[in-house]
Amino acid sequence: MHSLITVDAENNPLTNSITWADTRSAKHAQQIKDKHNGHEIYLRTGTPIHPMSPLAKLVWMRDEQPAVFAKAAKFISIKEYVFYKLFGEYVIDHSIASATGLMNLKTLDWDKEALILAGITSDQSSTLVPTTHQLKVIKEYYHSYIGFRGEVPFIIGASDGVLSNLGVNAIEPGVIAVTIGTSGAIRTVSDRPRTDPKGRIFCYALTENHWIIGGPVNNGGIILRWLRDELAASEVETAKRLGIDPYDVLTRIAAGINPGSDGLIFHPYMTGKRAPLWNANARGSFFGLSIHHKKEHMIRAVLEGIIYNLFTVLLALEELTDEPQKIQATGGFARSEMWRQLMADIFDKPVIVPESYESSCLGAIVLGMYAVGEIDDFSIVSDMIGQTHTHRPNEHNTNVYRELLPIYIRLSHMLGEEYDSITAFQRKYVGGTQ
Ligand code: ADP
Repeated sequence: MHSLITVDAENNPLTNSITWADTRSAKHAQQIKDKHNGHEIYLRTGTPIHPMSPLAKLVWMRDEQPAVFAKAAKFISIKEYVFYKLFGEYVIDHSIASATGLMNLKTLDWDKEALILAGITSDQSSTLVPTTHQLKVIKEYYHSYIGFRGEVPFIIGASDGVLSNLGVNAIEPGVIAVTIGTSGAIRTVSDRPRTDPKGRIFCYALTENHWIIGGPVNNGGIILRWLRDELAASEVETAKRLGIDPYDVLTRIAAGINPGSDGLIFHPYMTGKRAPLWNANARGSFFGLSIHHKKEHMIRAVLEGIIYNLFTVLLALEELTDEPQKIQATGGFARSEMWRQLMADIFDKPVIVPESYESSCLGAIVLGMYAVGEIDDFSIVSDMIGQTHTHRPNEHNTNVYRELLPIYIRLSHMLGEEYDSITAFQRKYVGGTQ
């Protein structure tokens, strides 16, 4: 999702793939918001105005790399590039297109104002097709690589994010899908495109009748990885000695600490923040440290803080949808029983976790079956996700979190301006990559 590649008239790439994580267009995203009707464009296109968005990247490229921009015959994503190589056609599915900031969700066509702002024409973009679109004739050159030569239908499919909702069986109203891998996301389904008057929530296509709305968070498991690598050398040693995964040692240690970490709150915004505040300058912090806190508390506070952050995205989502009834969760975090229970306690909702967490892949298979007419709807997913773990909220723990969450939320608002001050300092003294 959100990648950008430019190719010349001979279909040779002029750039590497610029990924979602590339923030060079931060200034341009801000300008789109402030001066170029950014909020209206978001309301029509569903992609929050942020450096991740190809719209912002195009404006950046036009201004900062004018020679490359001028030479480009097409502006595409990595997925279109792969499909071009295999089939010789530039096609883009509505799902990937809905994450470019350039597709009008209602007309399912390129948004004229967004194209003008980006400085490109619809001829320089790929042909828009539904996520069920089939391509048949794979170029001969690739037959031996892929292992088949005949007319095997290829379904263009959707983006990994929206497919994950399908693969975790979160496609009914009231069901929320939560993923915590390296980053994280929280999403639900709507039968029509919906955007957020406050600009916090994305809206991406799965099919014309299934729209995935939600928020991505940068700071998921990557923060636990930071803790493991930077603060937990002795725990990693213990894990090696016992022959177990260091993450299991950390979550076991955290399980020995009271819910709420005895009043220690952690804000996990170490890589900036996407939903719901969309502030790339946000930074992490521990709040409430007292002399009785030990490293064990800090470990638990980190696990809790990652979930608190996702909970704030859920609150934004709830303003647009019905009250969620249950959570279907996936991602690396789900390997830990303790962390899964923490999610149920903080969200105050039952959390169901399929044993297999490759949900995007399963979603792709089911969408493929639907596209070739093997199934008429997606209900088959519930039989395909296999064994699940169910966690119910523990009332005592939930009450503790209900007291701490308002403090967590107020703090992140209060720190808003100071995030800008501290990142300005970091950029000045530490360097431009911050
Ligand atoms: P990706 O999003 O890159 O595909 P994963 O979904 O595998 O990655 O998630 C990786 C993250 O999952 C790690 O950074 C870590 O925070 C978390 N994780 C992995 N194993 C465990 C575990 N046993 N216990 C708790 N968290 C874990």
